[in-house]
Amino acid sequence: MALIVQKFGGSSVANAERIEHVAEIITNTYKRGNDVVVVLSAQGDTTDDLLAKAFEINPYASPREMDMLLATGEQQSIALMAMAIGRMDVPVVSLTGWQVGLETTSTYGAARIKKVSGTRIREELDRRRIVLVAGFQGINKFGDQTTLGRGGSDTTAVALAVALKADLCQIFTDVDGVYTADPRKVPGARKMQEVSFDEMLELASLGAQVLHNRSVEMAKRYNMNLEVLSSFTAEPGTIVKEAVKQVEKTYISGVASDKNVARIALVGVEDTPGEAFKVFNLLAREKVNVDIILQSIGRSDSKDISFTVKKNDADRAYRVLMDHKDDLGYDHVDINQDVAKVSVVGGGMVDNPGVAATMFEALYEAHVNIKMISTSEIKISVLINKDDTDKAVAAIHDKFFS
Ligand code: ADP
Ligand code: ASP
Ligand code: MG
Repeated sequence: MALIVQKFGGSSVANAERIEHVAEIITNTYKRGNDVVVVLSAQGDTTDDLLAKAFEINPYASPREMDMLLATGEQQSIALMAMAIGRMDVPVVSLTGWQVGLETTSTYGAARIKKVSGTRIREELDRRRIVLVAGFQGINKFGDQTTLGRGGSDTTAVALAVALKADLCQIFTDVDGVYTADPRKVPGARKMQEVSFDEMLELASLGAQVLHNRSVEMAKRYNMNLEVLSSFTAEPGTIVKEAVKQVEKTYISGVASDKNVARIALVGVEDTPGEAFKVFNLLAREKVNVDIILQSIGRSDSKDISFTVKKNDADRAYRVLMDHKDDLGYDHVDINQDVAKVSVVGGGMVDNPGVAATMFEALYEAHVNIKMISTSEIKISVLINKDDTDKAVAAIHDKFFS
């Protein structure tokens, strides 16, 4: 007998029919004698719908109340699933984040998991019940509901698997594994049998939505292998783990894109020491995360500093830079929201020169202009026009994988 954590995403529980189907998967696992803990997301587009409802009433609603609202989506799913499983006469209980003692930091909307007390879950498992836990939510030191950021139910699942020392953590979704690019956008994308934590972490952080990046971070830290598979088909999925066999053969593991970026350019900054420090220190104090940075020579004795931030940080970054125009002494600020970041990821990249050249050749052939470039040992990212994203991903994927 094993302890298995299974997570089902929004499309896997979108309607009554899907819930019944997933109830079969869960109860079959249970009937094989396993202890089963299940994490569920909100149904279908529920989270987006809740966001829209809030926006209609107050576009500047307090983050605390936003989390209060968003957490209800997952609570609906667990209650409905418990009803479906109850109908099958299998013992089951649904529990919210706070009921399972999932403690988080205080940041509403982007809370991080600090601690999980598995006591209640263990008690329920000892009673031979299937335990359904609401994903994406926890409780902070003020006793308030928090949420973990979009896609956060994956992280709930991994946190529970780690806390309960689960034998297996399965992430069921609407595709049957991790592919070399988003299989919905790139028809030629290939399924990976295995992918390493490091590569998966890069892919997830660079926009491959299939796993929440923090879930991968946690799985790596505690060496919890994950299996990504489809709740729609019975195909074997992709294993995410520490060391992967094929790394040497395929030095590129995938292509990812991210439209949640904006580029800000400070034009006409004085060409003296300390300017970059002043700019980025200011942004750090505002808790704005900066990604790609480019400094270039401007006109007579001046330079331009451009950088990218997440779209929802762009207004805040712009405002703080405008507020400090006199201290920073620049000419003007430019902001561009119509950009996207496209990246190739691969653990074998360091030992294979020419990856960047191949990627740039693909973009050149597809007539895609590069605005910024950034590289690390395991990835190369470029910033391009948002409208070129799908074309760029397809062209790069073709170049490396066909
Ligand atoms: P869930 O609701 O189950 O959490 P998500 O929508 O968050 O599902 O993630 C699954 C989606 O991730 C897929 O439908 C697919 O379009 C997208 N995706 C992006 N990149 C990849 C990739 N490299 N491999 C697989 N899926 C990907
Ligand atoms: N329901 C949340 C979202 O849509 C969390 C999740 O699905 O993982 O982002
Ligand atoms: Mg998801």
